[in-house]
Amino acid sequence: QAPGLRKPDWIRARAPVGPGVARIKKLLREYRLATVCEEAQCPNLGECFAHGTATFMILGDVCTRRCPFCDVAHGRPQPPDPDEPVHLAESIARLGLRYAVITSVDRDDLRDGGAGHFATCLRAIRARNPNTRLECLVPDFRGRESVALDQFTGEAIPDVFNHNLETVPRLYREVRPGADYRGSLALLQAFKARHPAVPTKSGLMLGLGETQDEVLAVMRDLRTQGCDMLTLGQYLQPSRDHLPVRRYWTPDEFDALRRVGEEMGFSNVASGALVRSSYHADQQAGNLVR
Ligand code: SF4
Ligand code: SF4
Repeated sequence: QAPGLRKPDWIRARAPVGPGVARIKKLLREYRLATVCEEAQCPNLGECFAHGTATFMILGDVCTRRCPFCDVAHGRPQPPDPDEPVHLAESIARLGLRYAVITSVDRDDLRDGGAGHFATCLRAIRARNPNTRLECLVPDFRGRESVALDQFTGEAIPDVFNHNLETVPRLYREVRPGADYRGSLALLQAFKARHPAVPTKSGLMLGLGETQDEVLAVMRDLRTQGCDMLTLGQYLQPSRDHLPVRRYWTPDEFDALRRVGEEMGFSNVASGALVRSSYHADQQAGNLVR
């Protein structure tokens, strides 16, 4: 974090322990599956696992991009694991998950950005777990948006389509090199145009130097593109080598943003220091039934 900045009391890592967590971890190892919950040392892990929610990271743990806020390894990824869809489907069944978020690293090395593998995973999960709701948290598929969206058809259409803008446009060059603000907005809009009934969702990390006005402008942009749900959380620096925290937004500020977001017409706004893209995703999605 920036010199002189102290971590405030409301940021307390919650202990990732609780009944069932060890069992879940063992099963994930058995199926060679990675979760963001573990990889990102998410402070909500105990709570989410206990509620039957988890965020799986498909397509490997090596990313073709290098965002300076992110702790994922950078390099040349492996080809998609053909066993992954079945392993995911089986582990979700054994864990009895009611809601799963499927996400991936950026795969700029693949012609469809990895969207075809997303679709194969969704189909396999649905076949084995017809009552589990599925949210896809996708990368930006930059330069491959159309071919990527072509993959999400039939049983591979998620219950929620999530793509995070992460930060305000002014900070893109520093925070999301290789990404494009307008392109990310356009991806959300293009999905909505194809599947108007499927809720879309996006999120921002706060604390990287953005102003309140800039955050409000992004929220308006999202609503203009028909985005339904929003998550706002505090950025926490994974290590000293990552971007510093410039500011800790206060609980009152998070509350105020939630109220404004609701007034803007988002169907759900999760806003709070420890909110992550998939935090309470099941409750956010409300009464979606399949
Ligand atoms: Fe996993 Fe998301 Fe819950 Fe964190 S908030 S534990 S990443 S499901
Ligand atoms: Fe991390 Fe995503 Fe950036 Fe890759 S593209 S480095 S996974 S934030």
